[in-house]
Amino acid sequence: MPELTSVKDALGQLLSAFSRLPAENVSLAHALGRVLAEDVSAVFDLPPFTNSGMDGYAVRAADTTPAPQTLTVIGDIPAGLAPELKLQSGQAARIMTGAMLPAGADAVIPIEWTDQPVFDPSQGFPHLITTRQSVQPGDFIRPLGQDVRTGQTILSAGHRLCAQDLGLLASFGLTTLKVVRRPRVALLSTGDELVEPGLPLPLGKIYNSNSVMLGALVRQFGGQVCFQAAAPDHPQAIHDMFARALEQSPDLLLTSAGVSVGAFDYVRDCIQADGQLTLWRVNMRPGKPLAFGSYQHIPVIGLPGNPVSAFVTFQVFVVPVLHTLTGLPADSRAQVTVALAEPIESDGRETYARALVTWQNGAWTARLAEHQGSGNLLSLVRANALLIVPSGVKSLPVQSQAAAWWLNADLS
Ligand code: AMP
Ligand code: MG
Repeated sequence: MPELTSVKDALGQLLSAFSRLPAENVSLAHALGRVLAEDVSAVFDLPPFTNSGMDGYAVRAADTTPAPQTLTVIGDIPAGLAPELKLQSGQAARIMTGAMLPAGADAVIPIEWTDQPVFDPSQGFPHLITTRQSVQPGDFIRPLGQDVRTGQTILSAGHRLCAQDLGLLASFGLTTLKVVRRPRVALLSTGDELVEPGLPLPLGKIYNSNSVMLGALVRQFGGQVCFQAAAPDHPQAIHDMFARALEQSPDLLLTSAGVSVGAFDYVRDCIQADGQLTLWRVNMRPGKPLAFGSYQHIPVIGLPGNPVSAFVTFQVFVVPVLHTLTGLPADSRAQVTVALAEPIESDGRETYARALVTWQNGAWTARLAEHQGSGNLLSLVRANALLIVPSGVKSLPVQSQAAAWWLNADLS
């Protein structure tokens, strides 16, 4: 039986088999969470014209000193119109937030800084206003280009798009973007015991929960499930399932179960028959039976079947692979240093414990979540972090510090 490979070496081997996928165009409406394939530069200034930052009166600042001053209002400027009027000395124009500043004006005086205006019944806006305070040139105006200058790089290739990014891009009238294609992942479950949710559950069987969980993880980390199937523990059935998966042009074959030392664990045999098994068994807990190789030149990651092991190995290995395929740094992940509220034991393998991390007395504090058996999903449901006990460490005393990965910090 081969030596266990360290998590670090295993990850290095895996990542060397993947590189960034090509770009595709997507509409802004579908770009949330996608990764930019190229830099985006401003095609014009923002704001595109000097405008009012307040509802008030466009004025010549010099006319407002000293306060009070009475100014003649010569027009009304709603947002959305290009004003044709030009202010002369002693004049003002009523202006709304976001409306274009008229020629001759160099400041806006907020409506709250003027006294009850005098209305002329023949026009829809005040005839005279009296200022209560003076303003300086530039006050309450938003000059052309204050936010962004033409040609400025606003977002760089490799950036994962969030809502505010899309807002800024839409401010330039953009409707499509070049983003990295979503990784296509084929999900292959194996196991004689598996029954699909929705069907009756005979005694001795369990529902195929890994497919649902792994499919959700694939989507959470920017991939798409291009194929999904389950096969019994039978070499030909597994082989047929691989063959059908390949028809969907996956970037990654992701199997669950059948990679351990059980008498009916055929996934490794299947990979070896039609490809190469380059890695098997990693020095980690849970997740030791992890396998990696290629099947007809398509990379295969064989995850263990225990649901917690499948989840943890997905986090440790598949997330960095998906990041690499989408052009993100492989190790971009939300981490935190925690203080242990209880001691943690390990067997010396690199351990990923399910932990509940809370903010207590000025520090992030971790305690273990529920029963840590690798089949027990409730522990993951109750946890909000994976706490890492480094390899070679057999126990961490209470109050000691450890690194933890936030779970679900990428959900957006
Ligand atoms: P194996 O890796 O085939 O030895 O399976 C390890 C454990 O994971 C067994 O208890 C299996 O019943 C369980 N298991 C395997 N596949 C799945 C799955 N798709 N959903 C839930 N549990 C599974
Ligand atoms: Mg099995």
